[in-house]
Amino acid sequence: MHLSITAHRHLSTVSSFLGFFAGAYLVFWLPRTDTFYDTLLFFFVPIMSAIIPGVIMGLCVPAVCPQCHGRTYYAWSNPIKYRCKDCGHLHNTGIFYSED
Ligand SMILES: [Zn+2]
Repeated sequence: MHLSITAHRHLSTVSSFLGFFAGAYLVFWLPRTDTFYDTLLFFFVPIMSAIIPGVIMGLCVPAVCPQCHGRTYYAWSNPIKYRCKDCGHLHNTGIFYSED
């Protein structure tokens, strides 16, 4: 799969959204127990199922390096950056998670 960095960002976002709704759908079908753990699961499962696809995309799915066309991975930074495994180029997308 040869994803541009822009396509990689979009796919990460879409997979997190789909993960969230898949988790919410799963919780909807879980048996109700009316306990604290039931309430915890109600929030925990959708949140984790939104986070996990983004983490998998960041760790396992490379984008194409704009410099050498090698494999570049999400660098876990704000603004969002990608570091190339092949040439070491650090690409700054200029996209911030928040303006804080
Ligand atoms: Zn590179």
